[in-house]
Amino acid sequence: MRKPILCLDFDGVLHSYSSGWKGADVIPDPPTDGMVAFLDKAVEVFDVQIFSSRTHQPGGVEAMKAFIWDALGNHFDCSFAGDPRGLERALAIRDAISYPTEKPPAMVSIDDRALCFTGNWSDFDPKRLKEFQPWNKSKSPGSTISVSRNATLIRRIRMALTLIFAPARTGAA
Ligand SMILES: [Mg+2]
Repeated sequence: MRKPILCLDFDGVLHSYSSGWKGADVIPDPPTDGMVAFLDKAVEVFDVQIFSSRTHQPGGVEAMKAFIWDALGNHFDCSFAGDPRGLERALAIRDAISYPTEKPPAMVSIDDRALCFTGNWSDFDPKRLKEFQPWNKSKSPGSTISVSRNATLIRRIRMALTLIFAPARTGAA
């Protein structure tokens, strides 16, 4: 039986997006807290699909894939000395996530710039909607915003080395 589709936005949902837009293939900020732990559980229940404004721009999908892989590798400790089951789980999650080129027919979506329609337009006052701010634009942003850029760079280098030397059976690419 096919799993229902969970559509995930990228910037402000998976990517903490504190630096603002730097280009479709530039993803400068860390993952949001708990992102990989959520994906780990979500792929068991849903067909997880990531759809973003980056999707249709050159290098956007590749950059999102690299970002997710980097986060998976960090979470599951895919280093040489790590438990090989960590690498296997990271690869399984990576391979379970897709990046559709059109907005998917999702059962439910998670987006940082959307409100849930309840069937009642009186819930929405256009003037108040104009004041909408996503969570990471508020005056007290979450702890993920302060994660060191150097730590992110070190993780990416470590993941690149792991991918270069990963066993062929993993199919890592
Ligand atoms: Mg967003």
